[in-house]
Amino acid sequence: MANHWLSVIEHWLYPPTCLLCGDAGEGGLDLCGGCLESLPRIQEACARCALPLAHPGFNRLCGECQQTPPAYDAALALFHYQQPVRHLIQALKFGGRLDCARTLGRLLAEHLAEHPHRPDALVPVPLHPRRYRERGFNQSAEIALELSRRLAIPLHASLCTRIRHTPAQAGLSARQRRVNVRRAFQVADTGLPRHVAIVDDVVTTGTTVNELARTLRAAGVACIQVWAVARVSDH
Ligand SMILES: [Zn+2]
Ligand SMILES: [Zn+2]
Repeated sequence: MANHWLSVIEHWLYPPTCLLCGDAGEGGLDLCGGCLESLPRIQEACARCALPLAHPGFNRLCGECQQTPPAYDAALALFHYQQPVRHLIQALKFGGRLDCARTLGRLLAEHLAEHPHRPDALVPVPLHPRRYRERGFNQSAEIALELSRRLAIPLHASLCTRIRHTPAQAGLSARQRRVNVRRAFQVADTGLPRHVAIVDDVVTTGTTVNELARTLRAAGVACIQVWAVARVSDH
């Protein structure tokens, strides 16, 4: 009840405003109806790695997953990493616009509300402490926080840490990416959940979430999902 009144007061003080065009938001969301419609939702994707597929085969797996399945059990991404979603994610990451994390997190939570798997914990992809200090926040943790609030799944932000400061993955080949993130993560050895969902803002090639999943699996996590706001289509 207290929360309800807080949100009523908040909406009165700060009426929802579209993050993209500045019009009034709809349904308490910081997006107007037109801009919400314009977001590039993924229609068909690989059931394992969430890669958007133009022509899903009978088993709905991309070629890569048929040959070398990733360390996680399944991934889900809501949007193509295209405009205007790209703009919202960049405003969050590089402009510190945490309201974008709340809006994107809410849209992902609404999409996941009917999801058959309910993990014991949400695990945001950790930043290296050095990058965290530069940025002041972890965008994946901000999205996971909103998911946690809306889906009532505990956030376990300290379960995984990034122990190697790796260069950004952009511009690296697939092999270089794998080498770059190898042994980049460490998992706390107490309070290990059985079933986790790794939360990421954008999955590019999947190398980073795969390495994190590999580390969680080796530590003893039984079931690993990946939940991302956006997925890059091809590389
Ligand atoms: Zn708008
Ligand atoms: Zn796949």
